Amino acid sequence: MGADLEKVLIPADELQAKIASLAAQISTDYSGRNLLLVGVLKGAVMVMADLARALDIPVEMDWMAVSSYGSGTKSSGVVRTILDLKTDITDRHVLLVEDIVDSGLTLAWLISNLRSRNPASLEVCALLRKPEAARIDVYVKYVGFNIPNEFVIGYGLDYAEKYRNLPFVGTLAPHVYGGGREQHGNNRD
Ligand code: 5GP
Repeated sequence: MGADLEKVLIPADELQAKIASLAAQISTDYSGRNLLLVGVLKGAVMVMADLARALDIPVEMDWMAVSSYGSGTKSSGVVRTILDLKTDITDRHVLLVEDIVDSGLTLAWLISNLRSRNPASLEVCALLRKPEAARIDVYVKYVGFNIPNEFVIGYGLDYAEKYRNLPFVGTLAPHVYGGGREQHGNNRD
């Protein structure tokens, strides 16, 4: 990836070790229950795939895609559904799998949207969370890493649709990053 990359924030082996420990906890917590994993496209593809394979309980998987509208660098919390679940989650145990919680506004919208469908339970697993960026307090039961308020890429996370395939989480060199979140937008799909 060469000169585009500023630094590696979380190496691949640390990501995998954390996912293994989250998966162990989730397998224990949901033992004997019929769990549905809901991944949020596209960012959560990597964490969903690795988490699901690290679980030792049977699960079903489904996907949503949403788009968050923001003014400038800020997510507004106004969200549009691009792709909805195929699964009826009424009375289901649902674990929402997210790549990153930044302001928390998108997640808050997703939670209220899913909760209105009356699942038996609803919890969140987020690989990354930026505590300093939080604009709303959202409970996340399973958190991988709390990270600084920096724009990160890799392991599912993009900048202008690139870098999702990096096996680690890193930050971009300033010459690539340039205008910041405005250019990236908050488009989740
Ligand atoms: P929110 O501010 O609503 O919590 O996050 C909105 C969305 O913006 C996230 O789900 C994610 O798709 C994107 N986002 C937030 N922070 C970052 C980041 O550091 N890197 C990348 N690539 N996307 C981010």
